[in-house]
Amino acid sequence: MTAQPGVSSGVASGVASGVASGVASGVASEGRPGCVGDSEGHPRSSGSAHDAWATPERRALRDLVADFTTREVVPHLARWEDDGALPRALHARAGELGLLELGFPAAAGGVGEHLDACLVAEQLILSGGSSGVCAGLFTHGIGVPHVAAAGDPDQIARFVAPTLAGRMIASLGVTEPGAGSDVAAITTRARREGDEYVVDGAKTFITSGTRADIVTTAVRTGGDGHRGISLLVIETDRPGVSRSRLRKMGWHCSDTAELHFDGVRVPATNLVGAEGTGFRQIMVNFAAERLSMAVQAYATAQRCVDLTIDWARTRRTFGAPLAQRQVVRHQIAEMARVTTVARTYVRDVLARWQAGHDVVTELAMAKNTAVAACDAVVDRAVQLHGGMGYMHGVEVERHYRDARILGIGGGTTEIMDEVVAGRIGLDG
Ligand SMILES: Cc1cc2nc3c(=O)[nH]c(=O)nc-3n(C[C@H](O)[C@H](O)[C@H](O)COP(=O)(O)OP(=O)(O)OC[C@H]3O[C@@H](n4cnc5c(N)ncnc54)[C@H](O)[C@@H]3O)c2cc1C
Repeated sequence: MTAQPGVSSGVASGVASGVASGVASGVASEGRPGCVGDSEGHPRSSGSAHDAWATPERRALRDLVADFTTREVVPHLARWEDDGALPRALHARAGELGLLELGFPAAAGGVGEHLDACLVAEQLILSGGSSGVCAGLFTHGIGVPHVAAAGDPDQIARFVAPTLAGRMIASLGVTEPGAGSDVAAITTRARREGDEYVVDGAKTFITSGTRADIVTTAVRTGGDGHRGISLLVIETDRPGVSRSRLRKMGWHCSDTAELHFDGVRVPATNLVGAEGTGFRQIMVNFAAERLSMAVQAYATAQRCVDLTIDWARTRRTFGAPLAQRQVVRHQIAEMARVTTVARTYVRDVLARWQAGHDVVTELAMAKNTAVAACDAVVDRAVQLHGGMGYMHGVEVERHYRDARILGIGGGTTEIMDEVVAGRIGLDG
């Protein structure tokens, strides 16, 4: 096993080097019998995109995440949901375990592939965590990849390294009160004055925005349209930054904020890449974000299938367990079917995306497939739990609320359909 650059602590280097060689074994294991992972990574069959999810090193990563989730997330999750935010110490712990650097380029202190970051999210949910925990703990996955990819050593040292170590919290600020799906319509303005930009405007629905130390912010430095947009890292302790917490339907442990910038002075050295390239940088990173959300959707569905099977086997009505009623059995079989189809398809698209294929259409289809499966499954899971499924603090109730955002964030279901429609020839 070869240790990767940027790996410092003993525990982290164990994970990181394992993941690095896991990538290699994943390639080497193509076609080897007994290497295809199911939701838990157990062998099932061979010769598909699933092989890479079940290398020995990735099984070890899964075990690590399962242990971390069981010991350090699940016992506290109800409190964090009530608090409306995750503690900063959880970021430090995830950084110490090497979970935050996965999927980042080696030159920016990262290791492994996007699949590794997705596997971590998948296992965290399967072990009793939630997509809300993923949103709050892994916000760096949308907050700093642009900075890492732009490759400025000073920015990597100031923003990426401390974020991947869990000492800094990074957010992404694109959405505005007047512009969400239509990113090219943003109006937050950054005016150049000497060695600084002066920023005025507002961002809304920003994940981890109440805790973030930095926000990678889409700003208008040029004229109208997508060519006038740049990315600027704004430190939230700068004069003129104010923020307020937004309350919402689900993802309660993941704080969400509205941010206001009132004459905020930011050094020009915080510009990410060249002026006018912000829109392209945002779009490039959307692919990874959409895949992550698709993984969270099928993982949430799988967790609800598992919980519902346990429930149906023990809950008795009219003298027999629910699991013996054919109508219940068939509903759970259908929940398992749509979940399996979603997992299989998302993993296939992820593998092809990582291999450099053009999967823009399939990526949009994959997100919608996984979200549709998740929506159907969480609904059935609550129904089959009866009144208990409606009770606060029961896990399926939380997944039901948390799931609703997955078809809205990272590009809505309708925007995904528009991407598909344009690519299959409906644009004339
Ligand atoms: C909990 C949460 C966390 C978020 N985190 C972040 C974050 O960290 N950073 C960030 O920048 N943003 C974040 N967002 C914002 C999110 O990305 C947007 O909400 C999303 O992109 C949709 O934008 P909008 O809310 O402005 O809806 P709109 O764009 O106003 O859309 C409203 C409705 O119209 C539909 N619609 C829009 N255009 C079309 C069209 N052309 N054809 C058909 N239908 C259309 C949409 O699908 C939707 O159903 C978050 C949102 C939430 C709720």
